Amino acid sequence: MRMSYFRKVRKMKKFKKVLALTLTFAMVLSLAACGGGDDQKSASGSEGKDVYKVGMEPTFLPFDGTGDNGDLIGLDVDLMKAIGEDQGFDVEFVNLSFDGLVPALQTGQIDIIASGMNADKKDRNEEVDFSNRYYRSGLVVAVANDNTTINSINDLTPDMKVAAQTGTTSADMAEKLAKEGKIKEAVILNGVDIAMMQLINNDVQAVINDRPVTQYYIDTQKKNAQKDAKEGEEVEAPVKIVGDVMNSERYGIAVQKGNKELLDKINAGLKNLKDNGKFAEIYEKWIGQEATENDLSVITESTDFVDPDDAEKAAN
Ligand code: GLN
Repeated sequence: MRMSYFRKVRKMKKFKKVLALTLTFAMVLSLAACGGGDDQKSASGSEGKDVYKVGMEPTFLPFDGTGDNGDLIGLDVDLMKAIGEDQGFDVEFVNLSFDGLVPALQTGQIDIIASGMNADKKDRNEEVDFSNRYYRSGLVVAVANDNTTINSINDLTPDMKVAAQTGTTSADMAEKLAKEGKIKEAVILNGVDIAMMQLINNDVQAVINDRPVTQYYIDTQKKNAQKDAKEGEEVEAPVKIVGDVMNSERYGIAVQKGNKELLDKINAGLKNLKDNGKFAEIYEKWIGQEATENDLSVITESTDFVDPDDAEKAAN
C-alpha cells in the first residue's frame, strides 16, 4: 500500500529527531569518558588517586637537581612526595627552565611549582597562588676562591660582569645593578651550574644566587676535590661566598590562581609534616643540619607580604 506523502514526511521528521538524540547521547558519553576540564590535569594514578604534575628547574640542589639515573631529586621532590602521601595524591615531576615555570602553571601544562621559589616576590603573587612558606632563604654574592678584591656586593665595579639565573630574584638584583651602572653587565643564564662555570672561568666576576644553593655547590665541589687530593692535602672549593645575606626570601609551593582545593591540600600536608616530624627529616637529609624552631616556624607563620629587601629579616 503506497504511503501518503504527508505520512512519509512525518516519518522522516521522527527519524531525524531520534538520530539527533542518539548522536547527542553518544557525544555526552564520549566526553565523560575522556574526563575533560580540570580532571584532565590530575589523571587518575595508582588506586584511582589524582596525579599532579610538579614543575621544577633542576640545577638548584639541595632543592631541585638530577640524580645519577637522571631522576629529579632534592628537598622539593621529597617534600612533594610526602605531601602527596599525606593528602592522598600522586605526583609526577617535570623538568622546566625556571622562567618557564609560571607560564607552564598558568597554561595548565603543570599543576604545581616546587622549585625553591621565593613566594614573597610581589609580581608572582599576581600570577599564581602560593602555599604557606617552607624555607627561609636569601641571596648572596659568590666569587672565585682566589679573588681578593670583592668582599661584598659593594665592591662590584662598573667594569665587572655578574651572572644570575633567568627569571629569578637574583636576576632581578643583577639587572638592577647593571641598570644603575654599578656593574658592566648582568649575564642571565639558564642554570646555576652554567653561572658557576662562567665564574670559575672568569667570564664573569661574581654570581648572585640563593645562599643555600651556593653553599651546597661549594660543599659538593670541595667533597669532589677531596676525593682526587693526596692523603692529608687540604683542598678548597673553586668559589666562595662573600659578604652577608642580602635579602629575605621564603620559598613557597605555587598552584594556579584560584585553585583553592589543591592549595588547601598542600597547606594541610605541610602542617601535618611539620607536626609529625617528616618535614624536619627531609630538611636534615638535604640541608645537612637539624631544622631549628626558627626553620620550622616558617611553615605556620603568616604569608602576608614581607619586603624581601628588608635585610633585617634576612635568612640566618
Ligand atoms: N629563590 C629564587 C627565586 O625564587 C631562585 C629560585 C631558583 O633558581 N630555583 O627567584
